[in-house]
Amino acid sequence: MNIILLGPPGAGKGTQARILVDGRDMIQLSTGDMLREAKDSGSEMGRIVADVMARGDLVTDEIVIGLIREKLAGDKRGGFIFDGFPRTLKQADALAQLLDETGETLDAVIEMQVDDAALVARITARSTCGNCGEVYNDETKPIPADGVCTSCGTSAEFKRRADDNADSLKQRLMEYYKKTSPLIGYYYAKGQLSSVDGLADIDDVRAEIAAILG
Ligand code: ADP
Ligand code: ADP
Ligand code: ZN
Repeated sequence: MNIILLGPPGAGKGTQARILVDGRDMIQLSTGDMLREAKDSGSEMGRIVADVMARGDLVTDEIVIGLIREKLAGDKRGGFIFDGFPRTLKQADALAQLLDETGETLDAVIEMQVDDAALVARITARSTCGNCGEVYNDETKPIPADGVCTSCGTSAEFKRRADDNADSLKQRLMEYYKKTSPLIGYYYAKGQLSSVDGLADIDDVRAEIAAILG
């Protein structure tokens, strides 16, 4: 089964993707994570995308489509969760073609509906485990007092993203509405769209998604 998690920054895509990875042996393909890895590795691509990401703009379709193409050629396990991809109509068309070429199907597109007002609070309170990537939130899912990650059991360094600030978020939201939100209509028209209430508690969102995937 291959699915897309669609929603603005802070909607909870990464959080739910990790739950699906644990529960269904699926593979999380987060283009944001891949781009941050490229940036941290100091590769040429990393240098190209660093400023773009810091500003909150989208990187080029060619770069992210290339990243996804590579991953689709690898291990499939329980299927792919596309997290933060596609973000433009061009990326959506490219994904359809790539899946076609590899004989794969797109089984669900899950739109995570949230209020814009909730996103600033969520994003500025976000941190992740530097060891396993578990997503935390100062308000709703705090790092345990002993500093040990509940997911990997390591006393890790917890990282905050450089672009998780109010200015960059404003630009990321603008990009979302201009370039990504048309995908909601696109997948609706294809009969592939389901929506969940992303403002519900993490476990309730998990249950809603589970009901859709069956
Ligand atoms: P995205 O990948 O869509 O940007 P994340 O999964 O990283 O979103 O979540 C953004 C922040 O909101 C994180 O700090 C996360 O812990 C928190 N969060 C995610 N889902 C929920 C939820 N259902 N209720 C409250 N907080 C949530
Ligand atoms: P969030 O979790 O807040 O939704 P991501 O981690 O998915 O953010 O993305 C962080 C940044 O990486 C984006 O602001 C953008 O610059 C870049 N990026 C990630 N995925 C894509 C994509 N599919 N197309 C273009 N740019 C992307
Ligand atoms: Zn961890």
